[in-house]
Amino acid sequence: MLFNLQRYSTHDGPGIRTVVFFKGCTLACRWCQNPESRSPQRQVLYDARLCLSACTLCAERCPHAIARQEDGTLAIEHENLTEADYDILRGLCPSDALNVCGEAIDLDAIMEQVLRDRPYYERTGGGLTLSGGEPFLQAGNCAALLARAQAAGLHTAVESCLQVRWSNIEPSLPHLDLLLADLKHVDAKRFHAWTGGSVGHVLDNLRRLSRQRVAMTIRVPLIPDFNADADSIRSIVDFAADELGVKEIHFLPYHTLGVQKYAQLGMPYLASRQALDTPELLAYAESYASSRGLAAILRG
Ligand code: SF4
Repeated sequence: MLFNLQRYSTHDGPGIRTVVFFKGCTLACRWCQNPESRSPQRQVLYDARLCLSACTLCAERCPHAIARQEDGTLAIEHENLTEADYDILRGLCPSDALNVCGEAIDLDAIMEQVLRDRPYYERTGGGLTLSGGEPFLQAGNCAALLARAQAAGLHTAVESCLQVRWSNIEPSLPHLDLLLADLKHVDAKRFHAWTGGSVGHVLDNLRRLSRQRVAMTIRVPLIPDFNADADSIRSIVDFAADELGVKEIHFLPYHTLGVQKYAQLGMPYLASRQALDTPELLAYAESYASSRGLAAILRG
């Protein structure tokens, strides 16, 4: 079950890559800019700004879940939508106001799309990245896709929050060239409050991956009120330096490009509506990482 397939990406591993986004995540990070990735089920996104006031298409086809309101926008009862409704609604809207997110696509079809860009991968050292959501949640499909890409001679990468059982990770490891691993915090209370997850589990997976010498890039999203402060940065960098033995750490300053999607899904947005704009903090992160022997890479 995927929610996107993005070609020509340059932010998710080396070179030019195709990124396959798996739908379904084990965390519910307040700041997540892909809220449509959380649920493993299909969903609809509704953008009221694009909806045509005279149109009745979707409400007529799914009257038990969609109705026009007095203010002209649609009320969508997401919990009343069925699998049959998603089939009906996919591609129905003439103005792109209503889109079905999530599609089960077989591996042959995914690989057929991925291999279209082989010349770009070969020229740039790129390849395939599996992202999400959490790719390891669909462990069998994740490993199978990596194995096919590897057999085709492509560089392979996975982006993971690592809030998964080790048995979900292990089958992919023989086919994986690079793991882009999130290290959001090391404080259990704060991690749980902001993501719903268990940081001990994530840190155990990171240690185990490190012991097995899996090639990893550690990525730290810097989120206001969560970890965008000197104490948090120190504790995260210390863990990476002391326990993972990595040489590099990537900081990803918070942005708000996905906020609109929360309204489109009928979900509340619980993080800051302002992007992180603190050059001093980024400079501090860079210098502290350097003092611990790590090169800090700032990602836009
Ligand atoms: S089909 Fe699209 S344009 Fe028509 S009512 Fe539904 S959301 Fe609006």
